[in-house]
Amino acid sequence: MRTRAAVLRKAGTPWEVTELELDPPKANEVRVQVKAAGVCMSDWHIMNGDWPMPLPMVLGHEAAGIVVENGPDVIAVKPGDHVIFSFRPHCGRCRYCSSGRTVLCVGHNDTPRWVMHDGTTRVRLNGEPVNQMARIGTFSECVVCPAEQVIRIREDLPFTHAAIIGCSVATGVGAVIRHARVAAGDSVLVIGCGGVGLNVVQGARLAGARTIIACDLLDNKLAYAKTFGATHTINAKLGDVVKRVQALTGGLGVDAAFDAIGGEATALQALDAVAPGGHAVLVGIPAFAVRAPISPFNMVFGEKTISGTYYGSVRPDIDFPILADLDMDKKLNLDDLISRTYKFDEINEGFRLLVSGSVARGVIEFD
Ligand SMILES: [Zn+2]
Ligand SMILES: [Zn+2]
Repeated sequence: MRTRAAVLRKAGTPWEVTELELDPPKANEVRVQVKAAGVCMSDWHIMNGDWPMPLPMVLGHEAAGIVVENGPDVIAVKPGDHVIFSFRPHCGRCRYCSSGRTVLCVGHNDTPRWVMHDGTTRVRLNGEPVNQMARIGTFSECVVCPAEQVIRIREDLPFTHAAIIGCSVATGVGAVIRHARVAAGDSVLVIGCGGVGLNVVQGARLAGARTIIACDLLDNKLAYAKTFGATHTINAKLGDVVKRVQALTGGLGVDAAFDAIGGEATALQALDAVAPGGHAVLVGIPAFAVRAPISPFNMVFGEKTISGTYYGSVRPDIDFPILADLDMDKKLNLDDLISRTYKFDEINEGFRLLVSGSVARGVIEFD
């Protein structure tokens, strides 16, 4: 078989949409026809070399589609099922899977995260293997991947919505409701209003937070944040973020602060902006080399907590269907989040607009 896919050959170069050879699914693998795929900063971090990865690789990790073929021994899904891709493995047996922290699964650590569990890839270019980001690589019309990485969802959910549930919605909303467990009436700060940050904002609204302060460098993103439930906005260019957060919260700071960017300055802002007893949550994934000098003194005397959350600490098998239901119940606003759609051949334009900050979330729709 063949599939058209966007291949990254070298960091710092554009995508090349080209035909690849596609192998059929082996045991415990599925073939999925991709219907929609989100354009995410994590792909960009690999494209620009922040996260060095072995290339060539098919990137893309926020996507949804329809199962078209099962390999032997697959029981969780069948051809025709609508599915969301999960970019984390789920062996179901390791200490983390067994205790419900599936994001931390260590059951498949003997092979790198860009090849299947048998050490090979399912896509090739002129006979040479092409790696698949997170064992999926969804910037492709068809994907063969481990069956544990597709989650069946209701069929009335639009594929564009399903796609973004697979990364930005899970990460942002999950960070609030699954990880930090924000309570009704809490005050929240969200630093960075991209695809993940806007979902932190709407997660905070869903949880009943009373004060939701959104912070970004771009006024258009702050305007988006208001649409999703921000009660106050701060443009970080216009003065000290922490002081302004304190001014909005009676001098104490917020109950929970989320860094949806992933950098030294923003991590420290999050920690400094939480009230005594508060919780700073690191959500955005930094470049490998980032370090941040925290103040242990302030943490001890303020009894502050700092923690990281990966993928919103969601359990995809449980939480993707719940997020789908919340969307269909109009308790999440994914219509306004998807501010732009693209055809597959427009993928380079999609990343240009992502980096410019002019879209809330862009999604590629496949024919
Ligand atoms: Zn992503
Ligand atoms: Zn596991």
